[in-house]
Amino acid sequence: MKQNRNLISRRSFMKTSAAAFTAGGLLPGMDADKHGSDPNPGDIRNYHPDMVYRKLGNTGLYVSVISLGGIGLIRQVASYALDRGVNLIHMSTSYNHGKAIRELKEALKGKRQRVYIALKDTFDRIEDVLNILGTDSIDILMFNRHSEEKVSDPKIRDMFENLKNQGKVRFAGLTSHDQVKACVARAVRDGFYHVLQPVLNQPALEAMDLDLRDAMDKGMGVMAMKSMKGMEDREMQVAYLKKLLKHPAVTTVNKAFPDFESLDLYIRSVREVLTGAEDFSLYQYAQRNRARNCMMCGECEKVCPQGLGISTILRSKTYYHDQLGDRETALSAMAEASFSRAQLEGCRGCARCERVCPNGIRITEMLADALEFQDGSCA
Ligand code: SF4
Ligand code: SF4
Repeated sequence: MKQNRNLISRRSFMKTSAAAFTAGGLLPGMDADKHGSDPNPGDIRNYHPDMVYRKLGNTGLYVSVISLGGIGLIRQVASYALDRGVNLIHMSTSYNHGKAIRELKEALKGKRQRVYIALKDTFDRIEDVLNILGTDSIDILMFNRHSEEKVSDPKIRDMFENLKNQGKVRFAGLTSHDQVKACVARAVRDGFYHVLQPVLNQPALEAMDLDLRDAMDKGMGVMAMKSMKGMEDREMQVAYLKKLLKHPAVTTVNKAFPDFESLDLYIRSVREVLTGAEDFSLYQYAQRNRARNCMMCGECEKVCPQGLGISTILRSKTYYHDQLGDRETALSAMAEASFSRAQLEGCRGCARCERVCPNGIRITEMLADALEFQDGSCA
């Protein structure tokens, strides 16, 4: 029955949370050695005693468990993050129409050697990026791919090897905003990427638990992104941060921070243990919000006769605009989905998308809301 599919199975919850109920113990499979925790501070870039660092898979890099997301990056917050021990920043030249990378440039003046940079796309203009950031190389080149076939595209290897041989990049990563679980599973099978950056909000973490463990076994590092998507409550965010960091495969939680306080709140929590009560609250929260929380699995798009980029449209409105209050990013992400007026008008509410959505999301209603927002903003 559809209603049952929309719920996290209680058995599954009890299984994955059993250790949390025993005095906040570690989840099964979790141990310090898997993350290479507690290395010599001298081996860590930008070490700060308040921060926790983990080895990013087989890259050998020790990265902070809180890393900085690039969308909406503000130079003062980035600079403060460096002072608090953050040593990994994810960036794209497209974020905020190029403003974010210019902010990063200011924040990194004289400090490039304190951080690792993960750069999304922009392969043909990598020289420009190196010049902007005043650096000779990028640490992780993130390929932004949203289908299994594209994840395995042989051109990616060629492009990466070429840039690596020139000394401009060191490691390859994969980031996915659509068909996320399928893309991660393919990447794990291929074994090419050093780092995976999947959407890991609550429903996605549950759905991808085994894929992530497989990635860990293959020596891939995991940067969780959009992990707080659909989670507006600050207490729940802190609890979920702890839950993510308990997962044996998650290396770092990558997040944009709008101010010092929110960054401080996250950093304060990195050494705290998830309690049984918090884990149970997370379970209840997930049940209440499941039908509003898209995990970007892409199942709806496979059956949409109009070929609409449904998850991107929903993400733009509900996450960037409603949750983060970032109207500009919401509109630019919707523009990236590049759907035409004809496609929209072709959507007559056939509801095929809703019938396959594992989260029971009222897609047609949310799409109408998102498109009304776009029309109003563009008018
Ligand atoms: S209701 Fe619209 S978005 Fe959903 S499958 Fe039908 S045409 Fe696509
Ligand atoms: S709306 Fe549902 S089916 Fe579509 S990507 Fe989101 S969770 Fe998956």
